[in-house]
Amino acid sequence: MTTQIQQKKFYFEALKFYYLNIILYNQVDQVKMEIENMKIQFEELNKKKRRKNSEIKKLHVCQHCLKTYGTYGAKYKHIKIKHQE
Ligand SMILES: [Zn+2]
Repeated sequence: MTTQIQQKKFYFEALKFYYLNIILYNQVDQVKMEIENMKIQFEELNKKKRRKNSEIKKLHVCQHCLKTYGTYGAKYKHIKIKHQE
């Protein structure tokens, strides 16, 4: 009888771990999905940032030929090379 009870206990323990594994597996799956969603959101944010950068690029316009530059330095260099001589 005692061995039978022990076997039953072992069986239930095994069953418990089996279901715990399923639950954990589902949780891992959910976390994976959440990570994928976060990646998509991050990419969306980057796209928005890039759009903002392109808007900033338009701010540095050469007053001589209306060429646009991403930074003040780039525009300054361009003016020095192309227009100040
Ligand atoms: Zn220019």
